[in-house]
Amino acid sequence: MEQKTATIIGAGLAGSLWAIYLAKAGYAVTIFETRSDIRQAEISAGKSINLALSTRGINAMDAVGIMDEIKPLMIPMTGRIMHSTKGELTYQPYGEEGQAINSISRGGVNAKMMDLAEASGNVSILYSHKCVNVDFDTNTVFIEKRADKSIIEHTSDVVFACDGAFSAVRYHGFQKLNRFDFSQDYIDDGYREILLPANADGSYKLDKNALHIWPRGRFMLIALANEDGSFTCTLFMPFENDEYSFDKLKTKENVDTFFKNIFPDFHELMPDIADQWEDHPLSSLAIMRCYPWTHNKVALMGDAAHATVPFYGQGMNGSLEDCFVMGELMKKHNEDWSAVFKEYQEIRKPNGDALQDLSLHNYKVMSQSVADPNFLLKKKFEHRIHQLYPDKYLSLYSMVSFSNIPYAEAFQKGKEQDTFIESIMKDYEIEKLFKMDGIDELIHHLFEDR
Ligand SMILES: Cc1cc2nc3c(=O)[nH]c(=O)nc-3n(C[C@H](O)[C@H](O)[C@H](O)COP(=O)(O)OP(=O)(O)OC[C@H]3O[C@@H](n4cnc5c(N)ncnc54)[C@H](O)[C@@H]3O)c2cc1C
Repeated sequence: MEQKTATIIGAGLAGSLWAIYLAKAGYAVTIFETRSDIRQAEISAGKSINLALSTRGINAMDAVGIMDEIKPLMIPMTGRIMHSTKGELTYQPYGEEGQAINSISRGGVNAKMMDLAEASGNVSILYSHKCVNVDFDTNTVFIEKRADKSIIEHTSDVVFACDGAFSAVRYHGFQKLNRFDFSQDYIDDGYREILLPANADGSYKLDKNALHIWPRGRFMLIALANEDGSFTCTLFMPFENDEYSFDKLKTKENVDTFFKNIFPDFHELMPDIADQWEDHPLSSLAIMRCYPWTHNKVALMGDAAHATVPFYGQGMNGSLEDCFVMGELMKKHNEDWSAVFKEYQEIRKPNGDALQDLSLHNYKVMSQSVADPNFLLKKKFEHRIHQLYPDKYLSLYSMVSFSNIPYAEAFQKGKEQDTFIESIMKDYEIEKLFKMDGIDELIHHLFEDR
């Protein structure tokens, strides 16, 4: 019997994990990747260096048995540490005892999944091979070899476009189809990464087991630990037209003054920030929505289907969850790809939309709300409710980051819970009740019969 064949465009996070799923199902997989092998080169500029990996991503990797290999790359972050302008620190746990999101190197996790895909014996990755077109009638992809610009044609039983936010398969293929919906919205903010090096003895300059945030209203700085003692910090801020915007940081002096005044504790850790400013490019952020996600035997997965802004730390997690869902449907429909694709896009599209809406919503939470005492009180209240009624109350953040509840369902439930909590906080003096040890009584009264 001839071996089943699959093509994947893009050996990024979704592509390399999906290759492992397909290899396990017995497919001979060919991946075409436009970059050179990241295991031999520096990761390309403009992409975040580390990412927050949470339950959905872990669940998707666990389903193909690779978590033992991934775990050593993870640095658990149990909560946020907020840095005020005065340098005061406030810690806020993300979930319950033992729950954490994880800082992980983009290059590290990608390279590991490529290794595991290749080790299966069913996957070959061709680097410096750029997809330039697709033929939906014959499942053929057209690939330009970087070395001599020649075009090769490659046909297989099924094709998966995991080629990221600027997907060539979407652009050259799907966008030429009748009634294909597509929108691309750049937000007003850009980002620039800054590497905060380790101390001379290799130790960390900040607590490595937290995600650090310097919330400043319309903009913020965040920092996630790397394995080598350094932190990758990211400044998110409007490009222009604001009191504080990237266009105002033109000279070394501007940069130095800005950090000294706005992030004084960070400036103390990195007094030469102005010299490092140009090390990483200023990058833009966009949300891309489209539909349908599949046509004939070709499917869009990951950012190619639902690229989002990074404020919930869920773009990769959602992309890996696509692999999990596609894998479950592949089994359910016994690899009848028409049936798999139909159900995949029907159930995933509302979740892709919700992931994007949640990501936008969380920018406000991270840059403004986390510094607001009322928000912190609300979080404390929610936390206590969850402790007393874990089956009846899970915060939106926990549903998104520590569960596999579909994004759309989590978002909807989160909105309903928020309305409820807000109304209780209007009717009762929650802060006083915490001080008087009366909060549990109120929670029992509210939740006993709910
Ligand atoms: C600043 C920033 C921070 C982020 N932080 C987080 C986070 O903390 N947590 C989280 O979950 N997500 C985060 N994300 C989102 C995450 O990076 C993406 O959602 C994730 O990379 C999507 O994976 P993917 O495989 O779909 O796309 P990618 O990882 O972009 O991979 C696409 C691959 O396709 C290749 N390719 C592109 N075009 C072609 C072509 N024509 N032919 C062949 N190959 C091609 C690319 O070279 C690449 O290897 C962040 C994103 C940004 C920008």
